[in-house]
Amino acid sequence: MTAHPASRERTAAAVTVPMALLAELTHRCPLACPYCSNPLELTRADEELSTAEWIGVFEQAAALGVLHLHLSGGEPASRRDLVELVAAAARLSLYSNLITSGVGLTETRVKALADAGLDHVQLSIQGTSAETADRIGGYKGGYQRKLAVAGWVAGAGLPLTVNAVCHRQNMDELEAMIALAVELGARRIEVATVQFHGWADRNRAALMPTREQAAAATVLVAAARERYKGVIVIDYVPADHFATYPKACMGGWGKVGLNVTPSGKVLPCHAAETIPSLTFESVRDLPLERIWREGAAFNAFRGTDWMQEPCRSCERRDIDFGGCRCQAMALAGDPAATDPVCVRSPLHGLLVEAAERDAAAEAGAFVYRGR
Ligand code: SF4
Ligand code: SF4
Repeated sequence: MTAHPASRERTAAAVTVPMALLAELTHRCPLACPYCSNPLELTRADEELSTAEWIGVFEQAAALGVLHLHLSGGEPASRRDLVELVAAAARLSLYSNLITSGVGLTETRVKALADAGLDHVQLSIQGTSAETADRIGGYKGGYQRKLAVAGWVAGAGLPLTVNAVCHRQNMDELEAMIALAVELGARRIEVATVQFHGWADRNRAALMPTREQAAAATVLVAAARERYKGVIVIDYVPADHFATYPKACMGGWGKVGLNVTPSGKVLPCHAAETIPSLTFESVRDLPLERIWREGAAFNAFRGTDWMQEPCRSCERRDIDFGGCRCQAMALAGDPAATDPVCVRSPLHGLLVEAAERDAAAEAGAFVYRGR
């Protein structure tokens, strides 16, 4: 296992109890969103963890102290054993959240999931018309299916959150997307400006919002929060590239959550495999607790001792943890560098220039995930 050189001289950071596990049950998905954060090399179906292996992961996670289980993918409904997995989570008293495109669900299956103990559903939308949504999702009929799924979720008495990934080609529909979430009976909407990992990075020039769009979205969200107070909660992830400071990525590396990939690799964040100096253990080889506590990938950027200047002496280092390690890798070529999203990074100007260039580019055709 290769640790980042910065980790050699430092003392081990305190290991906390993780709160959430993101279980990427499969990379299979009927949709092909050009902003998908799944890796360019998708895991094959025959490499996926079995039902028994996933249940073993959930048991270990519960023993480790995990409370929230996010069932994600790919499209988790592509797993035939989804109801069985939800039932196992319920037996372990894990709060289960299904993150789905809706495609692959039927009314009967939604009811079976609710009966098995599913706690919450997060349904993605790509736009507010079949034309926009199906073009972006690369799946004809997807939009109509999502509307039906929202109705089945409500009928089963499950709370619903709508996920709306925003980018240059749908940001002008943001107001309508919030209104649609209200109409669908969602209690919450997550408006997340696209993050450039995986397939999204392939489609940067087609997806990068303009500075004007990013600013307008922030104003629009503030107004919508007022208008819909008591009706729907609006979570908002603004555009990175036009921000002043980075986000506290993953709430801190190896601090509050972990991901397990379809084949069982355990990652500190879903994009961590883009950092070539890190290697990752699998739940097929080692107990989850040992990976969480001792895994070199988890310890590489745990705490703040690994930081370089300007983060090392910055008063915000315990607030944003120096930003996203994967973005530092992608843009600075060094995963221990200050995230170039930060105005204090020496590379910030180059990042903004590149973002402006991408935002001004002719949109061109999408490269669809996995096609
Ligand atoms: S982002 Fe789109 S393609 Fe990727 S897993 Fe979600 S629904 Fe499927
Ligand atoms: S210098 Fe580092 S710690 Fe300070 S605000 Fe920027 S990214 Fe955050």
